[in-house]
Amino acid sequence: GPFHQIMMPRPRRLLLLVNPFSGRGQAMQWCQTHILPMIREASISYNLIQTERQNHARELIREISLPEWDGIIIISGDGLLHEVINGLMERPDWEQAIKTPVGILPCGSGNALAGSINHYAGFDMCLREPLLLNCCFLLCRGGVMPMDMVSVTTSPSSPSPQNGRPAAPRRLYSFLSVAWGFVSDVDIESERYRGLGSARFTLGTLVRLASLRSYKGRLSYLPVWGGSFSPPRDDLLPPLDQPLPTRDWVTIEGDFVLVLAIYQSHLGADLLAAPQACFNDGLIHLTFVRAGISRATLLRLFLAMERGAHLSLSSPYVSHVTAKAFRLQPLSSKGTLTVDGELVPYGPLQAQVKVARSYLQSP
Ligand code: ADP
Ligand code: MG
Repeated sequence: GPFHQIMMPRPRRLLLLVNPFSGRGQAMQWCQTHILPMIREASISYNLIQTERQNHARELIREISLPEWDGIIIISGDGLLHEVINGLMERPDWEQAIKTPVGILPCGSGNALAGSINHYAGFDMCLREPLLLNCCFLLCRGGVMPMDMVSVTTSPSSPSPQNGRPAAPRRLYSFLSVAWGFVSDVDIESERYRGLGSARFTLGTLVRLASLRSYKGRLSYLPVWGGSFSPPRDDLLPPLDQPLPTRDWVTIEGDFVLVLAIYQSHLGADLLAAPQACFNDGLIHLTFVRAGISRATLLRLFLAMERGAHLSLSSPYVSHVTAKAFRLQPLSSKGTLTVDGELVPYGPLQAQVKVARSYLQSP
């Protein structure tokens, strides 16, 4: 009655964005069977929108009135959250917009952020419905946390120069990872096994192991103990085509099997890639594997990653460091680069940890 309307805090209002094609295409079904019943039970009001195509969510987020929502919830894999974060940052009011809490209910095949949340909350590693239910529970319980965001500058998508001037580098924002070599190859090549759900990564790993490749490149990073750190601008990085300062930076040139930069604990719901990472430690956890590693050792590395035990696997080809910024210059002409699991233009790329944004499923 009217008494309730005055006395009770207004119910939380969430915008639910569903990618009906994520994972094995079960997101809408899981909405009906698991998600919406829990959200209604928690007296949360919501609007549900199904995305119709790639970048639909990104465009929508650029236009909507944000004060109407207490949070934006992605019901998909990591790819749709990547769209939403970038949609928020592309708004003229991005400084305010990025404070809008976001959350994820995992229905994709790549559910790394959900795996990380589940881990930070102290739950045992799990997949599929159990992971979804844990994330739903954290969402309904409420609570907002700051979480690291990384600013990434990639090469322009079209290398063809206009009026003799090269196209401008592209800026985007990342909440999870940058990958080159083995990890990005598996992510992209395994798209064709989408019907398998998250098992696509296991199969993809075995296929790529069978024809193991290495790539020439140069990796430079600013270790956490160097430089001075202040978040607002990309103050640690010169433009992508300018040389890096020599002081404090470490550069490695040679043949790489993979480079992985990750800022949350999980690379996939069952891959604990950075066991020491937390929500907003302001760190990029950088792993790189040099050519020369045997297939057996690489396989052992990925198997150990399920428990986060790969850090103690000692191999002269494998390195783990923490950094505030890095630059990657592929020197092999062909390869794949991903940001949050999404393909970006192949070429030099650099990244630095930025401001924290709000995350809605505080553990
Ligand atoms: P998954 O983990 O299964 O890959 P994602 O959330 O990562 O799920 O989505 C995969 C890709 O689909 C992303 O690139 C995303 O931008 C895109 N996408 C989002 N909505 C749609 C849609 N309605 N149709 C096709 N692709 C979409
Ligand atoms: Mg994805």
